[in-house]
Amino acid sequence: MNSFKAQILTPEGSIFDDEVSGVKVPGEMGSFEVKTLHANIISSLEVGDILVRKATGEEQYFAVTGGFVEVVDSKLTLLAEAAEPVDEIDVERAKEAKQRAKERLDAEDPEIDKTRARKALERAEDRIKLSAYFNLNNQ
Ligand code: ATP
Repeated sequence: MNSFKAQILTPEGSIFDDEVSGVKVPGEMGSFEVKTLHANIISSLEVGDILVRKATGEEQYFAVTGGFVEVVDSKLTLLAEAAEPVDEIDVERAKEAKQRAKERLDAEDPEIDKTRARKALERAEDRIKLSAYFNLNNQ
């Protein structure tokens, strides 16, 4: 089987480091999967979900809020602005973040940075959606 090393790094440290057969990421131009390491790539990432297919056959999901993925020297490295394994997503926290972002977007206050609020809303909605998907498939 074609397996390779993959690591996910966040400002808090490494949250994944193992042998994989594929990693699906939310690229800037859409979602794509790295399956083999014949070509070096670098791509920026959007808010979305990472699916890691471990060499053992197990699948692991992570929420990611942006960053970069690179494939160099037979290794995939994902540098995330923030990322968390799906089973560590705090849904209540994400719901509160979503509510705050919505209130900011609805406010008539010109001091409010709407782009920032839209991004916070996107992060919160992605965390809620991924967590719901995971719980639905793991009951
Ligand atoms: P909040 O307003 O709740 O902090 P945020 O979208 O602004 O949400 P980020 O800046 O994306 O938060 O992330 C900051 C840190 O908190 C990161 O380490 C991220 O993994 C973690 N984090 C944020 N939201 C959650 C969540 N709902 N569950 C688990 N970890 C979270």
